[in-house]
Amino acid sequence: MNKDALFSSDSVIRDFPALSDIRAAQERIDAYINHTPLVTTDSLPGDIFYKLETWQKTGAFKLRGALSRMLKLSGEEKKRGVITVSTGNHGRAVSYAAQMLGIKATVCMSGLVPENKRAAIAGLGADIVIAGNSQDEAAIKAENLVAEKNMVFVPPFDDPDIIAGQGTIGLEIYEDLPETATVLVPLSGGGLLSGIACALKSLKPGIRVIGISTAQSPAMAKSIESGRPVEISEHESIADSLGGGIGLDNRYSFAMVRDLMDDVILLSEEEIKAGMRHLFFEDGIVAEGAAATPVAALIAGKIKTGAAPLACILSGRNIDRQHFLRIMRESGRHGNQEE
Ligand SMILES: *Cc1c(COP(=O)(O)O)cnc(C)c1O
Repeated sequence: MNKDALFSSDSVIRDFPALSDIRAAQERIDAYINHTPLVTTDSLPGDIFYKLETWQKTGAFKLRGALSRMLKLSGEEKKRGVITVSTGNHGRAVSYAAQMLGIKATVCMSGLVPENKRAAIAGLGADIVIAGNSQDEAAIKAENLVAEKNMVFVPPFDDPDIIAGQGTIGLEIYEDLPETATVLVPLSGGGLLSGIACALKSLKPGIRVIGISTAQSPAMAKSIESGRPVEISEHESIADSLGGGIGLDNRYSFAMVRDLMDDVILLSEEEIKAGMRHLFFEDGIVAEGAAATPVAALIAGKIKTGAAPLACILSGRNIDRQHFLRIMRESGRHGNQEE
């Protein structure tokens, strides 16, 4: 396929991932990941499907991208070890892959990353560096360490191999339900959306791909509005995995999201919590805040659903248990839990 076909800008000089790259990523990672179930639900009106990346190993889809990148490391790169910056799930995926490959991993995180996510990363044997109170401050720390210690940086989203790895979700959706007409994708740095949209729009150009972000950290939405990557101030959110900027020097995910995304929806904290409660009480699914955003957007009435199938990407389940239980007890759409 023509690599430049899907993107309007800079495609000549940048090697944007294409369908062939996503297929190659699928071959690399296939033996190590779950082809996750795509299931129907009767808890919502319309022909709604859930793509259960909550059941991916490490509890989130990030393992796809991390393995896609790390299975390409040379022997020399493996000796140097890897370093990354993460809101939690990518760091866990990188640590898991590093343990599997027998290499050293360092994960830089901000003070906003929940303790349960830090503990999981420590449990996989990675070195943890806590720096600052935003994902961007942690990113600067990682950059410094890359220069200082000559480690190999594994980016959380802005990398062709990471994007191709996340895109394998799109291949699986097309394999399981080619009739899918709309996909709702949690959106932060845009690696997940870029990959899925690239795979699905290559296979089925008319498909709609809608990004869902938290209003607390709408870095991609603001950047698209401004026509270039912009910095935003980050506020704590129940969708902690959607925190952080997109990088002022963003090379791939900004252009891909801008060119491939049909719409973006921002949600309040209450709307996201209502989505989490819906998934738990109506479907028996534990989803972290980020993963509940597609369902949250549906129940908030922010998505037009038609007769054709709509798939929600439930991107992960890594939420602190006590925090989860508190949210389930709060009143809301499923109020009266405490009475
Ligand atoms: C990282 C993450 C996202 C967002 O992915 P991006 O590629 O940064 O847009 C969504 N949900 C979960 C659970 C994540 O860990």
